[in-house]
Amino acid sequence: MTEVLAATAPVGTPPDREILLDVRNLRTSFKVLDGIVPAVDDISFSLRRGQTLGIVGESGSGKSVTALTIMRLLDIPPASIGDGSEVWFDGHEILSMPIDEMRKIRGKDVAMIFQEPLTSLNPVFTIGDQIAEQVELHLRVSKKEAWDRAIESIRLVGIPSPERRVKQYPHEMSGGMRQRVMIAMGLSCEPKLLIADEPTTALDVTIQAQILELLKSIQERTGSALLLITHDLGVVAEMVDNVIVMYAGQIVEQGTVEEVLLEPRAPYTMGLLESIPSVEKRGGRLSAIKGVVPSPFNLPPACRFEPRCPYAWDRCRTVIPGLYRAGGDNHRARCHLHTPEGAGRLPAALERHHVAMNVGRNLPSGGRE
Ligand code: SF4
Repeated sequence: MTEVLAATAPVGTPPDREILLDVRNLRTSFKVLDGIVPAVDDISFSLRRGQTLGIVGESGSGKSVTALTIMRLLDIPPASIGDGSEVWFDGHEILSMPIDEMRKIRGKDVAMIFQEPLTSLNPVFTIGDQIAEQVELHLRVSKKEAWDRAIESIRLVGIPSPERRVKQYPHEMSGGMRQRVMIAMGLSCEPKLLIADEPTTALDVTIQAQILELLKSIQERTGSALLLITHDLGVVAEMVDNVIVMYAGQIVEQGTVEEVLLEPRAPYTMGLLESIPSVEKRGGRLSAIKGVVPSPFNLPPACRFEPRCPYAWDRCRTVIPGLYRAGGDNHRARCHLHTPEGAGRLPAALERHHVAMNVGRNLPSGGRE
């Protein structure tokens, strides 16, 4: 199974060749009227070629900002990237790369699918023109070859009559079709990495399932790596090899999908899993994580989850937790329960979680038992 911890290559040197994306100590913040908002705070992870990593978190957790920073799609300023941040893609450090070089990589070697295709597709050009333009630009092929490739991409994503469909405009298609077009566009240059930010959130449940199935089958066929950003643990259970859970700009848990969903070790992840409705809980009260995500201007001084955590004690208010080993080799949780000081409290927390889960058998749909 893929490791999700950052590769151990020294600062400023490329990671192992097998690692396609290596994010090291990434910090992104925004300057706003009231001060500086730290949106992503010192996160590190890596993704091997051909594998799938899910980033899960609520709105404001920093997961989309992470993707936009990797793609270099943020305006700087107001955004700024902290000193010491590194993003290695396919052997190159891309944060320090001239923006013209980055544009060549973007769309060709790394493609991004956004949540709402209508805002990403140009309404005044046919979808064929939009895909072909991108292919022509990045692969330097003739107009005819680019057009043929546009038709092939549309066929690949399962849209019937691709020769006719490429001549249509975005408004002539349904939401599900447009999302397929976005995926076709993303895949048209056969990228090594596909970043999908909430690709199914705007779609109804049946179409969601089709799009996820499509992403999975295309990934298997093309060998692209997939970075999937979502708030939906069910989607994660279906799709990914490894998971990162983010809260208030930090990674709070990371591991394989089985470790994180079946044996969560960070109280935040436990709370997320306990709050998923299930058939067995019908008629009962849904459990919810109490309180709200802290304001980025007023973060708790030590553990950022402390005001909402049912297991908090004095140490959580005074000592900043690191990412500690919490099970398998690469399973980590940002929580003092996994330090010698918290070890005595850990069994009770695990027991409470198991009771909560057994009440509802809350595995997200597709969870691998
Ligand atoms: S460090 Fe303390 S407050 Fe934070 S998640 Fe762990 S137990 Fe809860």
